[in-house]
Amino acid sequence: MAKYAELIPNFLTFVKINTRSDPHSTSIPSADRETQFLDQLKDRLIKMGLTDVHTNEQSAYVFVTLPGNVDKPVPTVGFISHIDTADFNAENINPQIIENYDGYSVIKLDEKGEYTLDPKVFPSLKKYEGQTLITTDGSTLLGADDKAGVAEIISAVTYLQSHPAVKHGDIKIAFGPDEEIGTGADHFDVKDFGADVAYTVDGGPLGDLNYETFNAADAQVTIKGTDVHPAEAKGIMVNAIQVGMDFHAALPDFDRPEKTQDREGFFHLYDFQGTVDHTEMGYIIRDHDRDRFEARKRLFKGIANQMNSDFGEDRVKVTLKDQYYNMGEVIKKDPTPVKIAEQAMKNVGVKPHVFPVRGGTDGSKISYMGLPTPNIFAGGENMHGRFEYVSEQAMEKAVDVVLEIAKGYAEK
Ligand SMILES: [Zn+2]
Repeated sequence: MAKYAELIPNFLTFVKINTRSDPHSTSIPSADRETQFLDQLKDRLIKMGLTDVHTNEQSAYVFVTLPGNVDKPVPTVGFISHIDTADFNAENINPQIIENYDGYSVIKLDEKGEYTLDPKVFPSLKKYEGQTLITTDGSTLLGADDKAGVAEIISAVTYLQSHPAVKHGDIKIAFGPDEEIGTGADHFDVKDFGADVAYTVDGGPLGDLNYETFNAADAQVTIKGTDVHPAEAKGIMVNAIQVGMDFHAALPDFDRPEKTQDREGFFHLYDFQGTVDHTEMGYIIRDHDRDRFEARKRLFKGIANQMNSDFGEDRVKVTLKDQYYNMGEVIKKDPTPVKIAEQAMKNVGVKPHVFPVRGGTDGSKISYMGLPTPNIFAGGENMHGRFEYVSEQAMEKAVDVVLEIAKGYAEK
């Protein structure tokens, strides 16, 4: 019998519900289907006999408490997962179960075999010999990111409820919307949540542990051109498209996502729309190091300033907006949450794989709100598309780790 009887049934139920967030919406949550799923989760948590189940009004997160069973004061630990899925088809998700995978066969996702999981293309498959894999049918993503996290946290709570001999302090749970569109944690209410330390259960494969993320800014460049007839353009026309290309060419050539890795930051041009008269460009700026991040923003503005001074008028306008910061700066002040997570993984035979995320997590924002929130694995591979999959055994280990973290704080 499965170690956590309801883990996989819950997961399969959750992934079949479309909770794709909507990047074009400004409401919170961004899509009604997210609210509906959060309401369903709330009902489930109430039926589980948990206390203080409520929707936090400002964030739309569902907050829950599992009261502690120790009689000394210990830190209150939080576990957080997001319920939305990435910007990829999430209609009629039809999970496929491959039991006892041999570690080398090509897995057909759809019946025709148009889409496959091939260990030659995805070498990660080789790690899963003898395990049970859950995949898509090739037409959707799976949504293990982050329904795996949701199901794992619920299983950990269920386990603690039925094993009162396992000692733990108060545990706080949060399920929230819109992580995938980068806005979910903006309104996270740290005070209402009431934890001293928290973990997002939103990492990738077995062992992932992250406490460093990028520093991140969005940059919009607006260029004003002067459009006249090309026949009489000499000395008069200012082609806003050309100015945009010149602007881009002035950025360091190497500092692009496709040329960088590990701790190397970048400027990423993700949108470029222009006419001779008017051109707009969208960039994201990323760097793990805060000083280098600030230097990147100065360089970006400096290029615009230089171009404007060459033109003798303001034609290039730059609007910068910081999105989140590297939570490593917060965590490094007190690395206890990372040490406890590492120990928790070792206790259950999982080798911690600690690395800086080339992106952000909900914890990047929440940590800066005063609640240190590293990220631990939920188990999924190839997230955000049709090749996403997760193994049952990795999910079980994630539950084990959540339990060990809870125990770890009760022993302190
Ligand atoms: Zn996620």
